Amino acid sequence: MKSSIRKNTYKAIYRLLDRVSPLNYDCGKLCGAACCSCGGDGSGEDSLDYDMGIYLLPGEDKLFTMKEAWLKWNIEYAEDYDFPESWFGKIYFVRCKTPPHCPREMRPLQCRFFPLSPYLTEANELKLVLSTVELPYSCPLITDNIKLEERFIKATYTVWKRLICDPLIFDLVQMDSEDIRLSSKNIVFIK
Ligand code: SF4
Ligand code: SF4
Repeated sequence: MKSSIRKNTYKAIYRLLDRVSPLNYDCGKLCGAACCSCGGDGSGEDSLDYDMGIYLLPGEDKLFTMKEAWLKWNIEYAEDYDFPESWFGKIYFVRCKTPPHCPREMRPLQCRFFPLSPYLTEANELKLVLSTVELPYSCPLITDNIKLEERFIKATYTVWKRLICDPLIFDLVQMDSEDIRLSSKNIVFIK
């Protein structure tokens, strides 16, 4: 899938997000790194639960070689899944083989944003909300609505402002936001 976001832009985004995290300490201590470990028990590739993983955003794959020993790669086709109509062709789905251990500076974006999600209002105004995705674990940052670091919120918002300039990513966020509005889920606005 053709992305308008250059490799260098993704690199700059990674660097910006390297400097922030949801709390000023490792939130994995609250939950045993639940959002890392639910995909496998770390004992090897065969033990991975293939339902869990991370979709890379269009063009984010430019930062990877697909030979990373800590990632299991799957190539899928957007038209086979619930993606916007503008999406077609290859999409990349990765699973971490050694959770919670990974090269921190190479964590995919969707991992870095959690528990925040972008949300576009009906007037297409960008907001950040707590993730409403159904998960097989519970994240204390969401269940206990723990106050997130302001720097993390700001950096995440800045990054999403840039990302939605890409039409494919805009369409994805718009579709997900519409789905959230149509569901009966409680929307917790963070910014
Ligand atoms: S984001 Fe939530 S689930 Fe993941 S490590 Fe932090 S507190 Fe745990
Ligand atoms: S990239 Fe690292 S931090 Fe993110 S889910 Fe995988 S193992 Fe956990």
